Amino acid sequence: MALKIGVIGTGMIGQDHIRRLTQVLSGAQITAVTDIDAVRAAAAAPAGARATNTPQELIRADDVEAVVICSWGPAHEEQLLDCIAAGKPVFCEKPLVTSEQAALRVIDAEAAFGRRLVQVGFMRRFDADYRSLKAVIDGGTLGTPLMYKSVHRNVSVPAGLYTSDMPLNDTLVHDADISRWLLDDEISAVEVRTPRRSSRGQDLRDPVMVMLYMGSGAIVDVEISVNIAYGYDIRGEVSCEQGIAALPNRPATVISDQFGIRQAIPRDWRDRFIDAYDQEFREWIIAAQKGGATGPSTWDGYAATLVGDAALRAVTSGAREPIHMRDKPDIYA
Ligand code: NAP
Repeated sequence: MALKIGVIGTGMIGQDHIRRLTQVLSGAQITAVTDIDAVRAAAAAPAGARATNTPQELIRADDVEAVVICSWGPAHEEQLLDCIAAGKPVFCEKPLVTSEQAALRVIDAEAAFGRRLVQVGFMRRFDADYRSLKAVIDGGTLGTPLMYKSVHRNVSVPAGLYTSDMPLNDTLVHDADISRWLLDDEISAVEVRTPRRSSRGQDLRDPVMVMLYMGSGAIVDVEISVNIAYGYDIRGEVSCEQGIAALPNRPATVISDQFGIRQAIPRDWRDRFIDAYDQEFREWIIAAQKGGATGPSTWDGYAATLVGDAALRAVTSGAREPIHMRDKPDIYA
């Protein structure tokens, strides 16, 4: 039986996930959608789905067995808590929530429910290249990982909508999560350095360099450049005791012409991670059909929230800002 899904938030990524769930993957049926903008919701509703007036109505509906949250971050907490109260599996786009206290409330609710219901949209964990990198590290042939370099470059960001805090409390969450996952370690402190600003970024604090200090002593350095112009460039390199494992920017098509041999660069995250998003939802559907969740958890969303908060403190203080996590509930073991 197809999993009956309700989608909250039918903006850019909500529409892309609706396309994925209806046209690419099997095992799912969208029965309801909702958005603050009722016209947008009605337009995005696929055949056989209706638009509800509110997220609460969608979450409680008998023909919604699982929920996908693609609204904006500040709305996630209430929608997540309603899903947990209804006992329904929920896929929530990043960020999990926008404050530490909100993350703790979601953790408490899920722990009280007694098992995982929430999966957070850190799609890099489902990317074939990142999985291959992790397999090499976990395989142990290169020895203990000592350092990780993470590069996160965007062509541009929307002027006026993307603020100076967002490289640190929005973009960085993907690098923070993938660092924790690759190194199987928690981040204990954060430091931020700001080089000369790019003239393409107008008033933005861009680029930024972030140091993530892992509990084990390993160090991650992250470059975030959000107006790099030439393409969407995501890279990683792990330095281990006896070797290096690297994830270069994924080349797409190779072009040979009178200018030489060139590889096209992805233009944005949809281009680069399209297969990862598909795999993320493939695995979520299987887990949700069993009434649960897999992959990135509420705990992982909480950790990313703490890193974003610490990075904002660090860019102001100039100091290494510590991160203190609460004890991990058993359901996230
Ligand atoms: P978007 O285009 O602005 O879409 C968000 C939609 O949700 C809008 O239609 C918005 O309506 C609606 N909305 C806002 N609050 C709502 C509420 N309380 N109830 C119902 N609908 C509500 O944004 P987006 O780019 O799709 O991003 C959505 C989420 O996905 C964000 O959390 C973002 O960080 C995340 N995201 C993740 C990735 C990734 O790589 N995993 C990539 C892109 C986005 P209004 O426009 O009228 O406010």
